Amino acid sequence: MRPLLRRLLPSLCSAAARALLGRRAVPMALRPAEAAAESAGVGGDARSAAPERDGLENIQQKKIFKENNEKTQQSEEPCAADSIDSLMAEMPFVDTDIEDECAMHATSELSIKKKRKRTIGREIEEGIERKKKKNKQYQPNYFISLPITNPKITGSIQAVQDAIIQKDQRLSKAMVRPGSLHVTMLVMHLSSEEEISIAAGALSDSKVFVNDLLKGKRVDLSFQGIDHFRNQVGFVNLAENDHTTLLKEIAETMKKIFQEKGIMAGEERAFKPHLTFMKLTKSTELRKQVKKIDSSLYDDFKNHYFGDEILHRFDLCSMFKKKQPNGYYYCESSIVFGEKQAAEPDDAELVSLSKRLVENAVLKAVQQYLEETQNKSRQTDGSPAKTEEAASSNKNESDNDNSKKEP
Ligand code: AMP
Repeated sequence: MRPLLRRLLPSLCSAAARALLGRRAVPMALRPAEAAAESAGVGGDARSAAPERDGLENIQQKKIFKENNEKTQQSEEPCAADSIDSLMAEMPFVDTDIEDECAMHATSELSIKKKRKRTIGREIEEGIERKKKKNKQYQPNYFISLPITNPKITGSIQAVQDAIIQKDQRLSKAMVRPGSLHVTMLVMHLSSEEEISIAAGALSDSKVFVNDLLKGKRVDLSFQGIDHFRNQVGFVNLAENDHTTLLKEIAETMKKIFQEKGIMAGEERAFKPHLTFMKLTKSTELRKQVKKIDSSLYDDFKNHYFGDEILHRFDLCSMFKKKQPNGYYYCESSIVFGEKQAAEPDDAELVSLSKRLVENAVLKAVQQYLEETQNKSRQTDGSPAKTEEAASSNKNESDNDNSKKEP
């Protein structure tokens, strides 16, 4: 077998080389140089250059065959693979790295695609950033709160919170303190002292409209069952009845009053009265550890009746100002309902009223002082005394200064 193979090898190699190079043996489409060009995607240019290369290819072929024959004869144990390797080494396209060619084109196409993707990505990111910035700018920082003070409700909530913490200690950071339990009626963004004052006025104006809605009835809110918002917020539900319907009407009326005064108030989503007792957003550290509140943690209280709260007061509260010693939010102003206020005003309403009176008095005194000193300086340097118009523009300036000072 072996001597026969040795004799046949040179002709086998030649046949292989012919098969690889020969014009007749290899169809045009598969000729290496063109095939390479084809696969490299260079198309027309490479194909039109091929005839000019034919002469060179023939000379090269003959040289290869000759050398190959010599090599085969010289070799004691010639290897077909080696011969084909050496043949390949002599090919005119030996320096053309097909993979590189393909890769280059693929890369350039890829890089264009990547660039396009990057640009689109950047544009989307910038859009998101802009939206975030805008949203942050108008993020709610004040809200109208309906405080929850019934000890039956606050006590039951504490029991749920304790039961949850017992099962998962980490969630203690998510719990709302008993002193700040409330139902949010309306959220808003107030960007200056002036806007806070307008909002306080709007709350005060709401009282008449709310009383019109109440028609002397009292709003008795019944808290029963636990639910959640996207497993991020745990809250006690309000039983659906005429009282909650009335509460929704009150919230809607307040929203209109605030908006009519130019306050950015209200959300796109429908008002869903609820009593939040835990939320993951209370701690960023916790949010990293716990992604969802497991509802099995409060299974025992799922339909629990927590108690009733009689609507008695609405407060305009700050989300970010330091809370009061009792744990409740910082209040700018309040309105009070019910029999109690007819005879004697509620403490919170008195505090709110006196605060606004003092603020207004201080503001007036500062304004007067500013006007007088400016008038004096004008009289001494000979400029005309201030007109009423100038006085009002002065007031605006002082208002704007106030807005600048607001965090
Ligand atoms: P609050 O009870 O007002 O402190 O709200 C607690 C959280 O619940 C806040 O992060 C609100 O954005 C969220 N929240 C309030 N109402 C809804 C609602 N209808 N749907 C989803 N999330 C809400």
